[in-house]
Amino acid sequence: MTNPLLAAWDTPFGLPPFDRMSDDDFAPAVDAALAEARANIAAITDYPEPPTFANTIEALEQAEETLGRVLGAFYPMAGADSNPAREGLQREFAPMLAAYGSEISENKALFARIEAIWADRDALDLTDEQKRVLMLTRRGFVRSGAQLDGAEAEALRAVKSRLSVLGTQFTQNLLADERAWFMPLDGDDLTGLPDFVIATARAAGAEKDAGGPVVTLSRSLIVPFLQFSDRRDLRQKAYEAWAARGANGGKTDNRALAAETLRLREQRAGLLGYDTFADFKLETEMAGTPDAVRDLLMQVWEPAKAAATADAKVLERMLHSDGFDGPLEPWDWRYYAEKRRKALHDLDEAELKPYLQLDRMIDAAFACANRLFGLDFAEITGPTYHPDVRMWEVTRDGCHVAVFMGDYFARGSKRSGAWCTALRTQKRLGGDTRPHVLNVCNFAKPQNGEPALLSYDDARTLFHEFGHALHQMLSDVTYDSISGTSVARDFVELPSQLFEHWLEVPQVLAEFATHADTGQPMPQDLLDRMLAATTYDMGFQTVEYVASALVDLGFHDGPAPVDPMQKQAEILESIGMPHAIRMRHATPHFAHVFSGDGYSSGYYSYMWSEVMDADAFAAFEEAGDPFDADIAKRLEATVLSSGGSVDAADLYTAFRGRLPGVGALLKGRGLDRAA
Ligand SMILES: [Zn+2]
Repeated sequence: MTNPLLAAWDTPFGLPPFDRMSDDDFAPAVDAALAEARANIAAITDYPEPPTFANTIEALEQAEETLGRVLGAFYPMAGADSNPAREGLQREFAPMLAAYGSEISENKALFARIEAIWADRDALDLTDEQKRVLMLTRRGFVRSGAQLDGAEAEALRAVKSRLSVLGTQFTQNLLADERAWFMPLDGDDLTGLPDFVIATARAAGAEKDAGGPVVTLSRSLIVPFLQFSDRRDLRQKAYEAWAARGANGGKTDNRALAAETLRLREQRAGLLGYDTFADFKLETEMAGTPDAVRDLLMQVWEPAKAAATADAKVLERMLHSDGFDGPLEPWDWRYYAEKRRKALHDLDEAELKPYLQLDRMIDAAFACANRLFGLDFAEITGPTYHPDVRMWEVTRDGCHVAVFMGDYFARGSKRSGAWCTALRTQKRLGGDTRPHVLNVCNFAKPQNGEPALLSYDDARTLFHEFGHALHQMLSDVTYDSISGTSVARDFVELPSQLFEHWLEVPQVLAEFATHADTGQPMPQDLLDRMLAATTYDMGFQTVEYVASALVDLGFHDGPAPVDPMQKQAEILESIGMPHAIRMRHATPHFAHVFSGDGYSSGYYSYMWSEVMDADAFAAFEEAGDPFDADIAKRLEATVLSSGGSVDAADLYTAFRGRLPGVGALLKGRGLDRAA
């Protein structure tokens, strides 16, 4: 019997045959695909002819075709519709794939062929895209240590392995601290809490067998508790426990782990020939250098601090009029900000919801893609991994562009959050391949055939993920490794965050934000209040974020600090951190930076992307038309179709005629008024 994953997929558009496969088919398929990939790699290194771009780089691009196909069916399903068997497979595949990855990056014969092509590159008559793929391929090898031998190679291997142990330990300590602490709430302790917070606190209490409601350190409970609890003493107690995660002494204390991690990162960068770890990390990013990152953060910092300082004065007066003396404290901010928000923009989610229907918001996203890029969407049926998954064929002028899938509803088998992934990415090498792109969200599923309704945040998430999908669907490159969203981390959120702006376009809301029962458009007054509320308390949010980003950078762009906590204190002192705001993530629980490498000296990238999306959308605003055809065409020709085939800064400059400035971001966050 043939494994349906390994047979030819004679399905509509070559979609995975979800209706014919079972969980048992994956392990043998991955085994076979890995064996095939290893054989393909061996064929490259054993090839009798001298290395060429075609027999080495292109062959490498195609070596994992079957593996990519099988995993492209598995991982999207494992994330969005898991079960114990699929979780077991994930645990089984992770070390197998890691071992395969190390085998490739340590393959000296393979690297020697790449080096030979690299040395000869100017004589080879390569296209710009080929030069870029060659550069990226070689750089990936060099950055994983392919140029090191003997003791140095051994040292790098030891450092990397210790770093991965430290990252896991950091995460587990943090989880242990978060699980260990809770505070029971008796009758009087519930004062001020709305029903939904009490319900969450009761559910948390039941889970802990506490015999009543409790506050825990889960963000979804402690944040609303700090917003609503009238009890200043309890807010302080809860806040201090939250801020102390990872720094409680004993076995779960993360401070020594953070120091060791920073020391090893410095060593890793040194072995690879970089001055600092930040230089190593930022080499692959659009920002490029630590100075460019610091420059951007400081441009945002000063206006954000000014806005937060002005807000703090208002909140402190509210504190004093409640009969408390002394300064506004971190456990007061959210409480008084919430009271002020209510007074300034009384926005009732319940009033808003009927206007934001899921189906209408999907239509709105499609309509924007149609007006901007001429894309048409027709719903189709075909094999899916779950009956809730909807599918559309995307065409332009009658030609097939992509398959777009939307898996919108929450369920127990889906991990939390929202994301975009491709079951298959666009490429031309080895035949024109169009992408299969999936958006996954966690919106509440309605009962009894009622229309699904979204919050404004949900609608924004839908547009965000659809922006990532456009980046995949409009991709137009030859090579898989640079297709679609395969771009620098600080560039990848540009298309998604940019697309969110079209949700705020008044004509889009007027057309698509219609009442579920009456079909009437949203009243102007409600629309205004909804849009005004989106920039509320931005001084606070920007300060807590930028402070974290500056500490992250300060940890990595010089010698590793012996005592990271002291270094953190020095950095906050030097930037004049406001008294009543603390870092969004302090060092002992800064998982972005210490749970792994992903966002180390990269926490800035959220803001970097936001600077760009605000600046990019301003191009449409300056033209006076959010659907200006010329600008949309240029956006597609540069940012959306090029994937990673061109350096991100060059792509942006080709779109906008210059690099982005922070002006549009400050305006969008309402921070231009305070400065
Ligand atoms: Zn995103």
